[in-house]
Amino acid sequence: MAPDDLDELFGDDLILDHRRHPRNPEHIDDAAIIADGANPFCGDEVHFQIAIDEGGRVSDTGFQGVGCAINQASGSMLSEAIKGKTLGEIRELHDLFSGLMKGRMPNKEQAAVLGDLASLTAVLAFPIRIKCALLPWSALEDGITASPK
Ligand code: ZN
Repeated sequence: MAPDDLDELFGDDLILDHRRHPRNPEHIDDAAIIADGANPFCGDEVHFQIAIDEGGRVSDTGFQGVGCAINQASGSMLSEAIKGKTLGEIRELHDLFSGLMKGRMPNKEQAAVLGDLASLTAVLAFPIRIKCALLPWSALEDGITASPK
């Protein structure tokens, strides 16, 4: 067991797997969108690079970060979930995930769209950590807003 306070609280395999083996760790140098976020309260930090193809879809993502298990798992899941999506589809996914963090349970179809992200419902039992799960998404939103169109 890694010496992480939350590893023992969050028994969900998917969360632990993303925490221990973050997806897309390689930095992308020529990214169209750069998104960074930090939450000094628990030392969470996320950094994303997002490459967009000619069709306006995410072709590649890079994710680096430090912080608590929930934050890092959420960032890793995000970096996977947005691949192949347009910015509009990412916004829809963000809405779905925000709803989830407010306790709105997804229907079957929405759960399929959320994929691994749906496992983060475990966070609802620890309200103080909801912010940690949402940090990657607010960072991404800021990054999209700031990126040249
Ligand atoms: Zn955190």
